[in-house]
Amino acid sequence: MGRIVIREELCKGCEICVFFCPKKQIVMSEKFNSKGHHSSEFRDTGECNGCTVCAVMCPDVAIEVYK
Ligand code: SF4
Ligand code: SF4
Repeated sequence: MGRIVIREELCKGCEICVFFCPKKQIVMSEKFNSKGHHSSEFRDTGECNGCTVCAVMCPDVAIEVYK
């Protein structure tokens, strides 16, 4: 099992991580960050396997993965 931390201040809300997560563990937040972007949010339903796809795909290096 894995988990991720999304640094919401670095997120520009592009949704790439949402699209590519094979376990559908990331959703878009309703909240805005200080730059006015909707950041993404970890759902944490226990299905994250720490594959790192989200971190690799994020163009803003906003995601850290822990296993
Ligand atoms: S590490 Fe893999 S399973 Fe976990 S949130 Fe990222 S893409 Fe999804
Ligand atoms: S890929 Fe990165 S910048 Fe895009 S929504 Fe996900 S965390 Fe935010």
